[in-house]
This record gives sequence, C-alpha cells and structure tokens, in this order.
Amino acid sequence: MARAKGVWVEDSGLNLKGVEAKKDWKQEKLRLRTERAERRERPVPNRICYVEEFANWRPGLPLPRCNRCDSTLFPEANHKCEGFVKKYVDHDDEWRERAEARRAEKREAIHEHYAEMREERIRDRWEEEQEEMPSSEELEAMEEERLNEIQGEYPDAG
Ligand SMILES: [Zn+2]
Repeated sequence: MARAKGVWVEDSGLNLKGVEAKKDWKQEKLRLRTERAERRERPVPNRICYVEEFANWRPGLPLPRCNRCDSTLFPEANHKCEGFVKKYVDHDDEWRERAEARRAEKREAIHEHYAEMREERIRDRWEEEQEEMPSSEELEAMEEERLNEIQGEYPDAG
C-alpha cells in the first residue's frame, strides 16, 4: 500500500517534473521568440549603418556627422536621414528643369528650321513668279523689239 503510494508519488513527481520542464521549455521558447522579434524590430544602430563614418571614431572623439544632412550620428541611435531624400529631389528637379530647357531649345530650333524652309519656299515661288512676269522695263524692251520687227517687216509704213 505504502509502496503503491510511493510509486504513485514517484510517478506524480516525475509527471510534475515533466509538466514543469514542459512549462520551462514553453517559457524559454516564448522568451527566445520575443527576443528575436525585438531584435528584428530594433533599428540598426548608426555604428553599423554608418560604418564608414564610425571607422575612425573612438569614444572621446567628436561624434561623426552624416555627410548628407550633417546631423550628429549617435552610435546606438538610428539616423533616418531625410536630407538625402531632399537633396536627391533637388537634384532631380534641377535635372528635370535642364532637360525641359534642352527640349524647349530643340523645339525652338526645329521651329526655326521649318520657318526658314517655309520662307525659302515662299521666296523661291515668288522668284519663279517674278521670272514668269516680266518687269515693266522688260515689257517696254519687248514692245520696242516688237515694233522694230514690225517696222522691219514693213519698212515703208513709218
Ligand atoms: Zn543624414
């Protein structure tokens, strides 16, 4: 009876240990999972993000600065540089403006070219028309020539 009880207690003890071990294991698993999640969530510190800036930095030296926005870089903080974005946008705007100016110049050149061609065509046509239509002097000369011809044909008419 006592033995049976002892066995039962022993078994119970084993079970209890098993339950506790399982509980410990669950807690440990949860702790590790939480730690991992926290590590994932934690932003990467500047000393890693800005490894070049921190390459020659030692405690006691002035803190390095962001070479884009000139902010002080604290080793364990996470510097989200907004200067970089802005600078980039500025550069982009400048580039767009210059590209637009180039396009406008090109449009102007093409427009000028066509205008010149049109002018030339008009001038050519005008010159052709001028050739077709004799000037008043030419008309006079032609008339005189014609009169001379007539006089030549009828020498006694005058
Ligand atoms: Zn910055």
